[in-house]
Amino acid sequence: MNNYKIIENGYVIDPEREVIEKKNIGIINGKLVDPQTIIQESADNYERINAEGCYVAPGFIDLHVHVFKDRTSLGIEADLVGVEQGVTTIVDAGSSGYENYKQFKELIVKNSKTEILSFLNISRKGLCEGISELENPNNLMTFEEAEKIFTSEKNIVGLKARMSSSVVKEQGIAPLQYARKLADQLEVPIMVHIGNPPPYLNEVFPLLQKGDIVTHAFHGKKHGILKEDNTMIPEALEALERGVLFDVGHGTASFSYRTITRFKERYSCPFTISTDIYIDNYVKPVGSLMKTMSKLLSIGYSLNDVVKSVTSRAAKAIGLAEQGTLKLGTRADLTIFTIAEREEDLVDSEGEIMKVRRVLQPRMTVKDGEVVYSE
Ligand SMILES: [Zn+2]
Repeated sequence: MNNYKIIENGYVIDPEREVIEKKNIGIINGKLVDPQTIIQESADNYERINAEGCYVAPGFIDLHVHVFKDRTSLGIEADLVGVEQGVTTIVDAGSSGYENYKQFKELIVKNSKTEILSFLNISRKGLCEGISELENPNNLMTFEEAEKIFTSEKNIVGLKARMSSSVVKEQGIAPLQYARKLADQLEVPIMVHIGNPPPYLNEVFPLLQKGDIVTHAFHGKKHGILKEDNTMIPEALEALERGVLFDVGHGTASFSYRTITRFKERYSCPFTISTDIYIDNYVKPVGSLMKTMSKLLSIGYSLNDVVKSVTSRAAKAIGLAEQGTLKLGTRADLTIFTIAEREEDLVDSEGEIMKVRRVLQPRMTVKDGEVVYSE
């Protein structure tokens, strides 16, 4: 028996075609199809999902979260920041490493409705034994270990290297030089966290190649991507030209309205939006992926652009062909949401408050063609 569904009357956002139009979406057995096919095949025997007054987009992807609950001090419940917030896929950014990924998979990945991918920490410990995980070079996973785990674990999509002085201590840039070699061998992207130096960005950026992701790109700390005159440091510009990707990674301390506004005035290069959400920033300042998107919307990015940054652009960054798209035949992961026209004070990581007038709100989350969450 085929399972037929039609999502009716929504404003469908197709990030690849950059159009928003009122239309229906068909689903047969978890895959996207032309709704006409369902009407012809099913003799009107299909489930109707009413999306009147809502937007319908490919399932949102959050490239930076921390969901290793109970084993790391920051881990938050995956579904709370995933499907319950309209996010169908999350990527845990370095909570686990070679030594504890299997435990992460058993405890978290297998017990969540949300699809959970990982950037594996280059430290074998991940964030399970404190957050200075790159302080001791003996904890770096070996080439053999990396080869083994990337071959056997399909949900690991890249490496995570956190380049803040509090993480690397005396090691400086050395862990990233090592991550470069691992990434070249494995042919996977590195997500690099940038923060307080050392290492400085003029050491970090030259090590990054096409497809690598710089998270916390728009932090408000000193020594960021922008100079005093609002132009980018040359190393960041050159990296962008090579195809390095910028990612928001909001977090407790890593997203500044001032930085993103200064960036937007001069540059139009695309980036991805992620939350770096965890237990301590869940209420404030991050809130959720949709709250973070609402902030970018209010800064002046278009709805199409903010949706693209969590769908097609995010999917492409980690090589997901079946997600972030509305192409017929691909997996029916969908986010149904509304935009509430109301005033809300939303804070950034610097404590600055912005009065936003449009707030994205989750209504329904569809994963593999099934409604897994509904308001
Ligand atoms: Zn993080």
